[in-house]
Amino acid sequence: MKINLDSDNEWGHFIDPDSFQIVEITDEVPDKSFVVFKEREYIEDIDRTVIQTTYGIIDGNKLQPMNKRELSKLMSKACAKYIIDFEKLPPKIMVEKKLIIDKPAQLAFILSNHDTFHLKIDKTALEGGNPHEIINSIMENQDFKTTMYDREEKWKIEYAKSSRAKCRKCGSNIEKDTVRIGEPNYFEDHLNYRWHHEKCIFLQRFEKKNIKGLDLLEEKDRKRIEEILDS
Ligand SMILES: [Zn+2]
Repeated sequence: MKINLDSDNEWGHFIDPDSFQIVEITDEVPDKSFVVFKEREYIEDIDRTVIQTTYGIIDGNKLQPMNKRELSKLMSKACAKYIIDFEKLPPKIMVEKKLIIDKPAQLAFILSNHDTFHLKIDKTALEGGNPHEIINSIMENQDFKTTMYDREEKWKIEYAKSSRAKCRKCGSNIEKDTVRIGEPNYFEDHLNYRWHHEKCIFLQRFEKKNIKGLDLLEEKDRKRIEEILDS
């Protein structure tokens, strides 16, 4: 069917369910395609641009809108079929969490840096095959990066370089030269950190090896924090 995104404020993509190719919508969208399109709306009173996303599938020349969760379910099915047919992961699909025996595999379809779909592939979808085994063997044979978790950066601890950053937990500013703890965050492939006060983070949940910057702290701070991490 034809989809006309004629205004400057709209743009969209369709995804071919058989190949997982992502194509920009310019005119004709084939039947059964998954579609995602966005509408940018500038709201003058609050001086902000709001982006509305429409998700759906083209079915019998009609757009059937659905929410993201419903579309993700359809994508999960298409992804499982792709895995069975081609014995590899579709493009733009990564293993989101470590695979666990007898549990569904959690994959992510990365449409863009702002739009990731979380897919669940279970035994039924794989026609009785064990997701853990099948996807593990695919990962061994595919030489490019297929997992998201191994690119995970470490958290960072340091002295605040200014008083400008706000704590993500309590919302108040983190004073310059006090200890701050940052959660790594990728935005458009750039790494940055979401900072927290020391008191606003449950430090016990970390292991020393998962935090960088400890060795750069003054001894009294380092010792205090290491004691919590080791507890
Ligand atoms: Zn705080």
